[in-house]
Amino acid sequence: MLKKTSHFIREANFIGGAWVEADSGATISVNNPANGQLIGTVPKSGRVETRRAIQAAEEAFHSWKRTSADHRAKLLRRLHDVIMDNQDALAELLTLEQGKPLAEAKGEVGMSAAYVLWYAEEGRRVYGDIVPSPWADRRILVTKEPVGVIGAITPWNFPSSMLARKLGPALAAGCTAVAKPASQTPFSGLAWGVLVEEAGFPEGVVNIVTGSASEIGDELTENHLVRKITFTGSTEIGKLLMQKASSTVKKVSMELGGNAPFLVFDDADVDRAVEGAMIAKYRNAGQTCVCTNRFFVQEKIYDRFVEKLVDATQKLNVGPGLEEGVHQGPLIDDGAVRKVEELIADATSKGGTIATGGKRHALGGTFFEPTVITGANPQMRIMEEEIFGPVSPIFKFREEEEAVELANATSFGLACYFYTNDLGRAFRVMEGLKYGLVGVNEGIITTVEAPFGGLKESGLGKEGGRQGIEDYLDTKYVCIGGLGL
Ligand code: ADP
Repeated sequence: MLKKTSHFIREANFIGGAWVEADSGATISVNNPANGQLIGTVPKSGRVETRRAIQAAEEAFHSWKRTSADHRAKLLRRLHDVIMDNQDALAELLTLEQGKPLAEAKGEVGMSAAYVLWYAEEGRRVYGDIVPSPWADRRILVTKEPVGVIGAITPWNFPSSMLARKLGPALAAGCTAVAKPASQTPFSGLAWGVLVEEAGFPEGVVNIVTGSASEIGDELTENHLVRKITFTGSTEIGKLLMQKASSTVKKVSMELGGNAPFLVFDDADVDRAVEGAMIAKYRNAGQTCVCTNRFFVQEKIYDRFVEKLVDATQKLNVGPGLEEGVHQGPLIDDGAVRKVEELIADATSKGGTIATGGKRHALGGTFFEPTVITGANPQMRIMEEEIFGPVSPIFKFREEEEAVELANATSFGLACYFYTNDLGRAFRVMEGLKYGLVGVNEGIITTVEAPFGGLKESGLGKEGGRQGIEDYLDTKYVCIGGLGL
């Protein structure tokens, strides 16, 4: 382990600028998914510690909201630099607890820094309006103000960048935060405490609490001091949090599950489609909400696409993420492996054929073989359920309309991808797909400059782009009268 990596392993909550244990002293163990070894423990906190963190954030908010956008931008730029100066150590920590290949972890940490830098810039462009007044002696101002304390709950698949997308805009807007990282990967979340300390943020502006998801979640959603909840995770928990947040009428933004379709038309460049398919499917071992869940391939090129995809899939090198040349690490835990096994068994019992992979990897633990299933059909559970694993089910279709209809036949609406060289078709299909993110002849499209977010049950609100800061702002209308004009 790099010396700097251990510097980032903090086995304590970060509240009001201090590193503190849970009141009860209880802890949660964090294990490396590649070998099951204990990395360390983090506090098992509940409502009391969360309330304290909210209080610290509220106290910090009074002065933080009065700082200039320029001052906050300078601190955020410093935070960006601190992240990049420690990119290797943060990436190693991420791989240790999450499992993804080191190169992917480095990319994620780079994205975190990029989000922070983007919002350092966007925070200086939070413009209001002066509206033409219907009254001669009054003027109308529309101003934007930070919402206040925000609660951020993040998942284990991108434990660094999912927090960056929330903390970046929140801090730039002048909000303070209480964050709860996922219990499987809390160290990459707690590392933000070290980073904001080193960048020089005032105490209490960022607070991080680990522990019981339901207790921390209940306090964050029910405490009236928290004015916004931002969540990335499953649709099931997102719905629960929306319900709970309604008790205090908070703003909510939700980045929830996906069920990405990947359409390949007869006129597509098959090699390019396979290249895009590999990254859209197997990145992070298939454990991203924008990972392809269903491939739909037009009949004339079906066999060619399958052959090339199987070939590329068989070349993937599975192993511990810290080893050189590894493309796919372990799945996060045994539950994830069992879910993948269940979905494969369901698909084969309904007529699917395993073209490659299909079972646990010889390496043991939670390693799984990269898998391709041909002959997929809408009766299979994968038609609606998120696989969150390295499995490519391939459906065959005849007509464009049929493919778009199948692609939309889901309650989700996050990412979708399609490949065609026909310009008219590109527009027809792009406009027909009910998804918040569309990749046309591209399999990986996330970038800090663009608004990321789902439609339907995939969520509410956007992260990234100029849109990503809006959810952290309140709009205020001010009427100035009696001007005697
Ligand atoms: P996943 O299936 O990816 O683990 P979850 O939605 O279960 O997705 O988890 C995402 C985040 O939500 C994690 O930080 C998790 O601890 C948290 N979480 C899970 N259950 C709750 C809950 N009842 N209240 C608040 N947060 C929760």
